[in-house]
Amino acid sequence: MKVEILNSHLFSFGGETNEETIQIVTFRALFTEDEKNGLTELAFKYGVYRVNKDRNLLFNTTLIYDIQYVSKDDSFHASKKACYQVGSGVSAIFGPQNPLLGNHIQSLCDALDIPHMESRVDLEPEIKEISINLYPNPVITGDALRDLIKYLNWTKIAVIYEQDLSLIKLQQLVKAPMPKSVQFIFRKTDPSQFRSILMDIRTRGIYSVIIDTKPEHLHLLLKAILQIQMNNYKYHYHFTTFDIESHDLEDFRYNFVNMTAFRMVDSDDLNVREILKDMEKFQNYGPNSNKTNVIRAESALMFDSVYAFARGLQALGRGTTLRPSNVSCNEEKPWVDGSSLFNYVNAAEFNGLTGRILFKEGRRSTLKLDLLKLRNDKLDKVGEWTTWSGLNVSNHEAFHEFGSKNITLRITTIISIPYVMYKKGNWTGNDKFEGFCIDLLEAISKSLGFKYNLYEVPDKKFGAENTTTGEWNGLVREIIDKNADLAVASMTINYARESVIDFTKPFMNLGIGILFKLPSQAPTRLFSFMSPLDVDIWLYVLAAYILVSFTMFIVARFSPYEWQNPHPCVTDNDIMENQFSVANSFWFTIVTLMHQGCDLNPRAVSTRIIGAIWWFFTLILISSYTANLAAFLTVERMITPIESVEDLASQSKIAYGTLDSGSTMTFFRDSRIETYQKMWRFMENKPNVFVSTYEEGVKRVLEGNYAFLMESTMLDYIVQRNCNLTQIGGLLDSKGYGIATPIGSPWRDKISLTILDLQEKGVIQMLYNKWWKNSGIACNRDDKNKEGKANALGVDNIGGVFVVLMGGLAVAIITALIEFCWNSKRNANNQRQSLCSEMTEELKFAMKCRASRQRPAIRRQCSKCLQNVPTYVPDGMDILTQENGIHHVLETRKVPTPLQYECDCSHR
Ligand code: ASP
Repeated sequence: MKVEILNSHLFSFGGETNEETIQIVTFRALFTEDEKNGLTELAFKYGVYRVNKDRNLLFNTTLIYDIQYVSKDDSFHASKKACYQVGSGVSAIFGPQNPLLGNHIQSLCDALDIPHMESRVDLEPEIKEISINLYPNPVITGDALRDLIKYLNWTKIAVIYEQDLSLIKLQQLVKAPMPKSVQFIFRKTDPSQFRSILMDIRTRGIYSVIIDTKPEHLHLLLKAILQIQMNNYKYHYHFTTFDIESHDLEDFRYNFVNMTAFRMVDSDDLNVREILKDMEKFQNYGPNSNKTNVIRAESALMFDSVYAFARGLQALGRGTTLRPSNVSCNEEKPWVDGSSLFNYVNAAEFNGLTGRILFKEGRRSTLKLDLLKLRNDKLDKVGEWTTWSGLNVSNHEAFHEFGSKNITLRITTIISIPYVMYKKGNWTGNDKFEGFCIDLLEAISKSLGFKYNLYEVPDKKFGAENTTTGEWNGLVREIIDKNADLAVASMTINYARESVIDFTKPFMNLGIGILFKLPSQAPTRLFSFMSPLDVDIWLYVLAAYILVSFTMFIVARFSPYEWQNPHPCVTDNDIMENQFSVANSFWFTIVTLMHQGCDLNPRAVSTRIIGAIWWFFTLILISSYTANLAAFLTVERMITPIESVEDLASQSKIAYGTLDSGSTMTFFRDSRIETYQKMWRFMENKPNVFVSTYEEGVKRVLEGNYAFLMESTMLDYIVQRNCNLTQIGGLLDSKGYGIATPIGSPWRDKISLTILDLQEKGVIQMLYNKWWKNSGIACNRDDKNKEGKANALGVDNIGGVFVVLMGGLAVAIITALIEFCWNSKRNANNQRQSLCSEMTEELKFAMKCRASRQRPAIRRQCSKCLQNVPTYVPDGMDILTQENGIHHVLETRKVPTPLQYECDCSHR
């Protein structure tokens, strides 16, 4: 009904003014014949209707339009019709959507300065003079797609397109800053080849596909995907169309295939819904008619272009009045107001169906795209991309949805004892493998409910990056290429790998160790009993022995309490005897050192202190010696040419190497630690040090003169079973084994959770015990070689006991002095000699090594002094004489007379 009203003005001229109030603005539109009465035309008409209805927008202006239909392949007639329209008076030309015709009309508008309103893909990079194009620039849409590829971590991408124009559009993808590691395969096709192209993509192991077909052929491509069953969770199809919502994806909902697309019109937006509803009414749909909740991007853009034009008119109307465009194709005289109208439209800013609209030199400068992803129930918005903040994914989960039941995964592995080994016998399929990883995989698959097909990695390598080509090999390559869904093996998690593939949480921790052949036993030595103590300790013991013996001798002689009556029964015997002659002192110390009985016993406190402290010393020394001797006798002394990684690095006689293309090799290659760099230089220059299997490494170690750098868990397993092998030194690093998945794989988080669960339940420990400990063929080697290494005791270990001994001796000497003074004081009645001189005299006497063990007791008993000298002494006693106050031994006699002795008290 409304359309009719508008049609009645169909031939009005632009710029005609209704005196005071209404200004009629006429513009023209060109549609191709196949678009006749289509949705785009409807959106155009509805746009005009809505602008005219909205008196707040153009309150004194009414828009009227003229539509001409042109053949898509006939640019001549299209231009002719446009000229006809121009001649009839025009303020703008809309369309056509066809790029070829669009270019012709664009040139015409450019020549006559008539604003050209477009909503088509413009692949030409140059700025058009007087054109306003609402279709986003391919550079901008290319950015959005590039961000998505980055988010999805795609590395190998197939692009299926139908028209050369698409190729120009998609070329943006391969331009910087797309990383070089991302590979694209472009395939131009027509609907008849959809199947073969898809099959080719499948055989190339490509799982990420960008589809840019004509909208009318998309259903054929979807059908081909279903036919060749490229519709599982591994595949991800991204459609470049902005109208994915208008296609039927019902068949793909429940098989977890990934399908994404951007859309321009947010059909969930309330304003948009209201416009769509109104448009349906405008289209004269009845309430029960087949309604659609979506509007195609092309139609929405057309609607927005009418509004953009209206906004321009609105802005212009505030300042100037539009003059009629009396132009013709023949005259090539531009419309004077054309460029100012263009500038006003270009400055328009508003929220349209396709989001916020802003122009820069006639092109959209802002764009917001919704990212849609097919999920079980429907296409969901999972994020959005904007020109100002790039891609913002709001639902990451949506990219990790998959059903694990009834899925058969392709799993790659590598032989490495005891993780994955061939079972003895004629087994096929998964059954031909056994080992820790196989049991672990079985437990995980039971828990998650998937089936699997296990195969050995073709190049039999774990995977390392070639530093020159950047290419990976081994298990890592299999995962990058998505030939396998998982890699289950003793696969080390490291930085380089983690940047190209994903790993689950580690299921085992380990480090690099050195496997070496057990060294030969040291020959038995005649004087091995000396080994428990260091040479310097032996020397110190000797010195202590001499020192203690002498101290004993001197202190005993000095101390009055060591002088005893040799015949206690003879009470009036005045000869005193000292048992600690030099020889006796040495004898006493050696006997006690050897913990033997001795008939010499110190009597004075001072000598007893010496004795006690010496016994204490000998107790500690002998105990330590005995304990260490026991250790030395039980520990087999080995001749180990290398004891640590530093030893290994600092020599070149013994070769060493790692497994080829494994993480151990790259550990040395990439290390910044000087020792490891040095080792890498050594290995690099001797390429035959790298082995291709663990067995080969172990064999080389057994052959001798080769150390194999390998991972500790495997090393433990080998060392336990081969008594000729051992581990040298500690671990060089610390890391873990994980299960590898392609980047973004939905399995990673699920398997990580299962691994944690199995760890907490002790299942992984049980599997470890099963494969490492319960085999019953462990090498019976004592652990003594590993841990019980005995070392000679040195000053650091038992030096303290020498200090105690020295302290004890000092105490003994002080005690001896106190004893002397005490005794001196007790006998001080008749003393005439000073304490000092007495002490000096006594000391001199004590120091006389060759002095007699006996002396007269008179020196201590002056009250009993006799005057006669010489006198008789008992049998065997020395006869003393006095000369200048000093006693001399005259002779030793055997006189059976009663004991008499004398001293000169005047010398006291
Ligand atoms: N487990 C190692 C890897 O993942 C192999 C090795 O280097 O010992 O590469």
